[in-house]
Amino acid sequence: MTPRTDYHVHPDYSIDAAPVQIRDYCQTAVELGLTEICFTTHIELDPVRGALDNFVMCNGERLSVFNHAWLDRYFQEIAQAQQEFQAHLKIKAGIEVGYNRGCEQHVAELTSAYPFDFVLGAIHSLDHIAISSRRESPRYFRNHTLAELQQEYFTTLAEMVASGLFDCIAHVDLYRRYGLKHYGPEILTIHHGALEPIFADMARRGMGLEVNTSNRRVGLKDFHPTREILTLAARAGIKIFTVGSDAHSLNQLGAHIDEALALLKDLNLRHHVFTLRQAAPC
Ligand SMILES: [Zn+2]
Ligand SMILES: [Zn+2]
Repeated sequence: MTPRTDYHVHPDYSIDAAPVQIRDYCQTAVELGLTEICFTTHIELDPVRGALDNFVMCNGERLSVFNHAWLDRYFQEIAQAQQEFQAHLKIKAGIEVGYNRGCEQHVAELTSAYPFDFVLGAIHSLDHIAISSRRESPRYFRNHTLAELQQEYFTTLAEMVASGLFDCIAHVDLYRRYGLKHYGPEILTIHHGALEPIFADMARRGMGLEVNTSNRRVGLKDFHPTREILTLAARAGIKIFTVGSDAHSLNQLGAHIDEALALLKDLNLRHHVFTLRQAAPC
């Protein structure tokens, strides 16, 4: 049977997640029959957005992401859970970094100071505005043409990949989640010609691509990315794929994972797990 994994889970350290602790996610993962989960606490490092989102929650307190005290507790909590659930569930320590130009040195320091299993890179903001936010994104869309969005998104993505700091790219077509309503269906084709060379670079570097199921929660049918984009990734030579629910609360854990696994299987692609940043096929 295919191992059922969820490689994108936000425990209570992420500022926009429900106050659900690592242990509670693990308990639920066992009940759901998942075999492995990876916690991916979310950090944003853009100093321009400092007052908005350069924080993590730690023991009920808001801490600056630049204060690494939270990581000691995070790794300790994960180690405790690994011990408690070792007979039933593999538990990995990951992080989701919202990439911005200029964050590279901090990410390099962070990931060399702590034994992460999995470092997930994501683009949540362009021009210092969160395009991942229903509330904030219209401000970006109103002030940028689709050509500008295309240019800025894919340039940023190419830089994030070329930084060599990330194991895998999260929800690579997230721009269409809220952008579709503003720009119309034309947004569904802006990756043509732009994404292929980036995928080729990811393949050369042995990087992974995530299938993120969270779109279902906002009423969209496709996962991030679409089947068409997954096909492009495979054609470019990407071999490493992960599946993640992007759970921000307990009831979202493992949601639609089986469908994502079936999609990968249908495309003859394999989902992977990571240990100390080394990928292995399931
Ligand atoms: Zn994300
Ligand atoms: Zn996330």
